[in-house]
Amino acid sequence: MQYPEPIAKLIDSYTKLPGIGLKTATRLAFHTIDMDEDDVTSFAQSLVSAKRDLRFCSICGNLTETDPCVICADVTRDQTTVLVVEEVKDLMAIENTGEYHGLYHVLHGVLSPLAGKGPDDINIESLVMRLQKNEAIAEVIVGTNANAEGEATAMYLSRLLKPAGLDVSRLATGLAVGSDIDYADEITLIKSVEGRTKL
Ligand SMILES: [Zn+2]
Repeated sequence: MQYPEPIAKLIDSYTKLPGIGLKTATRLAFHTIDMDEDDVTSFAQSLVSAKRDLRFCSICGNLTETDPCVICADVTRDQTTVLVVEEVKDLMAIENTGEYHGLYHVLHGVLSPLAGKGPDDINIESLVMRLQKNEAIAEVIVGTNANAEGEATAMYLSRLLKPAGLDVSRLATGLAVGSDIDYADEITLIKSVEGRTKL
């Protein structure tokens, strides 16, 4: 006996999400059927809107409805410092501390030789171009995660950018080795920005 087509399709859709197997997808599909119709409509609309109305900022790579994003467009922010992060969620975690007032650059990944990810596979070229064009930027803080790939990326950026006369620093330890920026608590993040070390 097979499920009716609409629920079979819904189960199939849920299995496309990361970490969701057939069993969980089936449970979510039946849960969806039990939800109020208004909630389901709103859920479906938010899925479509998230995909249709969002883009990446052409300057920093942040997710945004407008290009440039609100951070890049905010002239009251410190225009001399760029904090480089792996993912948009890292930017959000640091932004939510309210303690950092400079600009960002989102790499959308890290260097990972084992996974075959080189400098051309992440958002590094646009960072270099940005730094060349914008002479106000004097310091680059590398806020990649405290694991082997994050460290390798930080070293690469340091070697690439220091010869251009930029100060390159690394978020301080206090972020436990192997930890992810977006899971760190606010106090730890604030301390890691304040206590950043030169590379
Ligand atoms: Zn931006």
